[in-house]
Amino acid sequence: MDAVAIFAQLVSQREKVLARSYSHHAAFHDLIKAGLIEETGVVSSIICDECDQPHESAITYQDSQYGYFCYDLGFIKLSRAEIVSVKPNIKTFVAQIAGRENCKRRKPTPLEGETWRIGGLETAGGDVTIFFQPRMVDVKDVRSFESSLKRDVRTSLGIILTSAGVLSVPPYITTSIQDVLNFDLKTGCFFFDVEPSSIAGVSETRTGGRPNEYKETLTILFHERAADGRSLSGRNQEADAILDEYNDRFPEEKKTPHKSIVRKFVTDVRSGS
Ligand SMILES: [Zn+2]
Repeated sequence: MDAVAIFAQLVSQREKVLARSYSHHAAFHDLIKAGLIEETGVVSSIICDECDQPHESAITYQDSQYGYFCYDLGFIKLSRAEIVSVKPNIKTFVAQIAGRENCKRRKPTPLEGETWRIGGLETAGGDVTIFFQPRMVDVKDVRSFESSLKRDVRTSLGIILTSAGVLSVPPYITTSIQDVLNFDLKTGCFFFDVEPSSIAGVSETRTGGRPNEYKETLTILFHERAADGRSLSGRNQEADAILDEYNDRFPEEKKTPHKSIVRKFVTDVRSGS
C-alpha cells in the first residue's frame, strides 16, 4: 500500500487501529515520520488468534508486562509494539494541503463535526473552496456536510476531498484523495497531482455552458469497450484504459481530459447518474 492508500484507509475507519496491521508497509513509517499518523496509546482489547476459537480479550498490564487472558492457553504476553494503536492526524493533513496550495481562507479546525474547510483558491473561473470530509458514503455524511456549510461563506465552485464514497453536495465535486493526491517523500507532504481547479470543473479556456466537453466522446468510448467485452472491473483501470484509447484515437487533440475527469466519468456512468 502506498501512503495515500494507507492514510485513506485509516481515515475511513474512523477509529484507532493497531499499528502492527500496517507496520509492514514502508509508507506507514513515512506517514508516522511526517506526523500524518500518530500514536494514541495501546488498544484496550485484542482478538486472540493463538487458540482454535478466535475470541476478543481485554488487554491487561501487570508486573510491567502487557498481555491478555486466553481460556485455553492462559496468560499470553504481548510487547507494547504489538498493541500500539494509531490514528490519522487530520489537522496536519489539512494544514499540509492548505500550505502546498497556498490557500486563502484557511481554517485550521473543523467547521463543524468532521467537516473541514481546507481553504480557497482563486482561479480564472472563480473561487474554488477545498473541503475535507472523511467519508461521503451515506445520507448522514451528506447531511453533516450540508449542516457544516450553513454558517460558512458559499462559493459556486468547490471540491470535497474524501477517503470513502462518492456522494456529492452540488455544486461541489466529491473526489477520493486516492485519485487526486500524491505523497512527497522528501518533504513528507501530501499534494495534489491533479489541478484542483480542473477537478472543480474550471477549464483553462472556460467557455461556459459546457460543463464537461469530453462527456460525449467518453460515453462513446465507454460503450464501445463494454460492447466489445473490453471493460475492466476496476474503476481506475477502466478510466486509465479509456484515457489511453482517447489519446490513441485523437492524437491531433491539443487538450485531453484529465485523469480525474475520466475517473469521475466512469464512476458516474457506472452508478447510473
Ligand atoms: Zn485464545
